[in-house]
Amino acid sequence: MQFIDLEAQYKHLKEKIDARIHKVLDHGQYIMGPEVQELEEKLAEYVGVKHAITCANGTDALTLAMMVLDIKPGDAVFCPTFTFFATAEVIAYEGATPVFVDSDEATFNICPVDLEKRIQATIADGKLSPKAIIAVDLFGLPANYPEIQKIADKYNLKLVEDAAQGFGGEINGKRAGSFGDIATTSFFPAKPLGCYGDGGAIFTNNDEYAELLKSYRVHGKGKDKYDNVRIGMNSRLDTIQAAILLEKLAAFPTELINRNKAADNYERTLTGKYKTPQVPEGYVSSWAQYTLVSDNRSAEMEKYKEQGIPTMIYYGTCMHQQTAFKQLNYTDEAFPVASKLAGNVFSLPMHPYL
Ligand SMILES: *Cc1c(COP(=O)(O)O)cnc(C)c1O
Repeated sequence: MQFIDLEAQYKHLKEKIDARIHKVLDHGQYIMGPEVQELEEKLAEYVGVKHAITCANGTDALTLAMMVLDIKPGDAVFCPTFTFFATAEVIAYEGATPVFVDSDEATFNICPVDLEKRIQATIADGKLSPKAIIAVDLFGLPANYPEIQKIADKYNLKLVEDAAQGFGGEINGKRAGSFGDIATTSFFPAKPLGCYGDGGAIFTNNDEYAELLKSYRVHGKGKDKYDNVRIGMNSRLDTIQAAILLEKLAAFPTELINRNKAADNYERTLTGKYKTPQVPEGYVSSWAQYTLVSDNRSAEMEKYKEQGIPTMIYYGTCMHQQTAFKQLNYTDEAFPVASKLAGNVFSLPMHPYL
């Protein structure tokens, strides 16, 4: 048994994916070929936003969002401590300071109550200027955007949705990728919607941001790529990856149903035995991971291993515990929920062909 069975998915979609790849090989437009624009249109339609702009990976997508929001040294950007490293990395990469926030015990997502406390403490401290929040749709479940947006408005902060794991999730019919000022996702193979290499996308309803993003992703281009009006980067999605994603996106709604069936099965079988992941009323998870909490994690994981069932730990180290952020001088006591989760969570196999 595989933790995420990409081979089973490929077998299922092989004819269509192979045909799409061959079409690219035939027309030869490997960079920014017609499949890239076709995919961007279909992504925008699926998510329900005006603009989808593809790029090289989910980390670049977040970096491009930071560039558009002009995040710079002296700025504070709030993000959960219980997340993948890239969420916090992109803040520090711009020279700004990540301010970590504790998790909500029930959803594993950023805790709105703790978020407001950290914003108030940062304002009172007076050393950094609060600029933005990056909320994460951890393990596929959208963060509490109704509450987080209120806080962002109250303190005049920009809101970025890191939907690298959240593509396909929903709150009251509104899809992941459509929350906040800018949202980002990743097409890393193991994400809910993955390609066969690296890939990413940025979503926004803001026309000005969309224009800036298209410039930043191609060396800060102006009229053309040899007219450079700002410092940007080289971060495009390969045409072949776009072609693969077009077929995977077409299969995605059915896959999402299958992921939710697998999660329902787990819930029926495992509830009572562990703290199982809960989806709040009105929310849909895309189940990037199926994550359990157990105070006897190592022994539990060993039992699954004996049965040939792979398990993984996402995440055993919070951002405030990372060596790269040691100079921020955080302690575990400042993040009681996230620190406990890092010590107790483990994930079971999850994919649409389970
Ligand atoms: C995977 C991931 C990223 C980064 O995406 P890449 O495509 O690997 O660069 C960012 N944030 C979160 C929460 C992720 O899970």
